[in-house]
Amino acid sequence: WSSSDSVRSTDSSGDAGRAPGGPYRVVLLGASGVGKTAFSSIFAGAADSMDSDDCELCADEVCEKKIEVDGEAATITLLDTSDAETDDGPAREHYMQTGDAYLLLYSVTDRASFLRASELRITLRRFRPAQHTPIILVGNKCDLARRREVSVNGEETQRFLCVDEVRPLSDMQVPTVALSVSEGRACAAVFDCKFIETSAAVQHNIWEAFHGMVRQLRLRRDSKEA
Ligand code: GDP
Repeated sequence: WSSSDSVRSTDSSGDAGRAPGGPYRVVLLGASGVGKTAFSSIFAGAADSMDSDDCELCADEVCEKKIEVDGEAATITLLDTSDAETDDGPAREHYMQTGDAYLLLYSVTDRASFLRASELRITLRRFRPAQHTPIILVGNKCDLARRREVSVNGEETQRFLCVDEVRPLSDMQVPTVALSVSEGRACAAVFDCKFIETSAAVQHNIWEAFHGMVRQLRLRRDSKEA
């Protein structure tokens, strides 16, 4: 990967000079309601932290924390773009330009958020045309999938969920077809990024997403050093 692909607001020369363990600026992107705030709350919480006191809230949407991935410490500065979601101006541009890596969230229960993730990926590409900034496409709220239909060869074909997340599915309710794992994977392949399904509600795969991100950042670092 190119050494010029990390554009940082504080260091226009990219990530040269940064310590090997970070801090890495990881940006949460996604439509409103997909779970960005839930993600940052889990990140800011004590779970999986090397030191429960090491999370610093520098601003409303930023949390810096040291975590251990594969026996090596890494510091992540997490930026939650919730407040900038409706702002297509300078705030959005700032996030698009200053992240070292992006978690691109959608909700598996919300196709509009899936489309939004595609739009955001395209916008990201515009800001970083020939660059390979690590991006993970995250299908959140997988706990809401009520049923998966599995084909004979074991591949998931469809999943259904109740439109209402609390009430049980009644005969009168038409189930909404939620996004399948294979749709997420296919989209990630087109986007040239990794994919993971998560549930912030039951804390499933949240840390795997952060750890995967750190691994990608390290791969990028190592390939630059080689
Ligand atoms: P944001 O607008 O992207 O920051 O979304 P929030 O984090 O505020 O989440 C929107 C709503 O979805 C809240 O009511 C959350 O409790 C809920 N939510 C977030 N993640 C999950 C999840 O994984 N599963 C379920 N069932 N609800 C979630």
